[in-house]
Amino acid sequence: MSTLRDLNPATGECLAEIPVTSSAELHAAVARARAAQPAWGALTVEERAARLEPLGAALAAAADELADLATREMGKPRAQALGEAQGWAKHALVELAEVVEALQPERHETARSVTTLVRAPLGVVAAITPWNFPVGMPLQILVPALAAGNAVVFKPSEHVPLVGAKLAALLQPLVPAGVFELVQGDGRVGAELVAADVDMVGFVGSRATGKRIMESASKELKRLVLELGGKDPLVVMADADVAAAAECAVRHSLRNSGQVCCSVERVYVAAPIAAEFERQVVEKARAWRCGDGFDAEVDMGPMVSVEQRAKVAEQVDAALAGGARLAFRGEVPSGPGAWYPATVLADVGEELAISREETFGPVVSLSVFSGDEDEGVRLANATPYGLGANVYTGDAARGVRMAARIHAGQVGVNQYLGSAPGLPWVGARQSGFGFLGGKEGHRQFTVPKSISAPREA
Ligand code: NAD
Repeated sequence: MSTLRDLNPATGECLAEIPVTSSAELHAAVARARAAQPAWGALTVEERAARLEPLGAALAAAADELADLATREMGKPRAQALGEAQGWAKHALVELAEVVEALQPERHETARSVTTLVRAPLGVVAAITPWNFPVGMPLQILVPALAAGNAVVFKPSEHVPLVGAKLAALLQPLVPAGVFELVQGDGRVGAELVAADVDMVGFVGSRATGKRIMESASKELKRLVLELGGKDPLVVMADADVAAAAECAVRHSLRNSGQVCCSVERVYVAAPIAAEFERQVVEKARAWRCGDGFDAEVDMGPMVSVEQRAKVAEQVDAALAGGARLAFRGEVPSGPGAWYPATVLADVGEELAISREETFGPVVSLSVFSGDEDEGVRLANATPYGLGANVYTGDAARGVRMAARIHAGQVGVNQYLGSAPGLPWVGARQSGFGFLGGKEGHRQFTVPKSISAPREA
């Protein structure tokens, strides 16, 4: 039997040896899901939502345990891990109510017939998720997929198997046997699950993995929702509030050690304010404390793994070798953790890998530009990604005008990007395919189906 070593990235300690789901076990789990789905799918959406509703209280009761596990397994500060679990205890219920609303049948009448549009479940959904928000990323797939009447086979990230197992332990008692199955392992198990007898893949993770999944799913035209990586720009115009823009740059480059899909990964600052902006960025970055997430004083933990640290180090080192300037490097604890310091790079060239490929590390990457509106938009659009973007300018109308021209699912103008309740979270261009959240997102776990009959005389 093969196992995966579940490591604490702050200490290097092995937390557990997790048995990897074998090929035979994986196919048996998918078969159980296939067999259990029709009866679950035959319930009304209201009945299914009622069965799932205790999840909110269960998450609230387990929030401390989930937070401990998340900080141990992937390193984020415990207060942030707790906030994520507590937030989802409430948000799971919001999502259930949204799914009920989104899936209501629609009646359409013509002179001769009555047609009812129902939203039928797809069947078996494979849910494959990352580690950076180990509670929220899975639940944003699991809750709508189940409530829509699908059976789900869930593979959490190999970096957070214990958080994944805890989520499964909370969900499994709420649904009939077989409707929710858990498998464990790395990308090999994920690839096998995608190729197995599933009807849809709900995936959150990197662009590279998303492409592999799409390729594999194309063989049987399986439905897909892929929420992928980003390379989000922050464009700071010459008339911007420098302090507010610098705060946005630092907070959203360093949060979760930069391991956020919608981190600020590129900052383009207008030449007239560039020196003052850099000064303020360095001053703010200096205040971020890096250490073990269980230390309440800490702002950012380690990277999730030494491999992730090596990727970040490689990009930063290549940038420095390619002409970027090191404006600031923070301190990290000594010892075996996967530490990477808060880093500010300046004079970062457009041609460098760090300007094009997702970094996923605690790096503020500064480039100076002319301050011209068209140039700001061009730079913002200069990658294949399209997840989020941010614009700071003293002219709010210009900010909105620029936002309309930037290819992204979410754009913040004079505030960090966000969204509003009930709206989908969208990766435009190569940051996604399909999307999650909101009524439109929830409906992607179903197929619309028209049932027509003659109008009663
Ligand atoms: P990853 O792509 O390496 O892995 C994600 C999941 O896919 C894991 O469970 C992994 O085991 C599995 N996997 C790996 N190879 C696979 C394959 N060939 N077939 C099927 N499954 C496979 O990503 P990660 O390192 O876990 O997460 C970080 C990435 O996720 C970043 O790119 C980040 O931007 C992205 N992300 C995106 C969003 C969003 O909403 N768009 C949110 C969070 C994270």
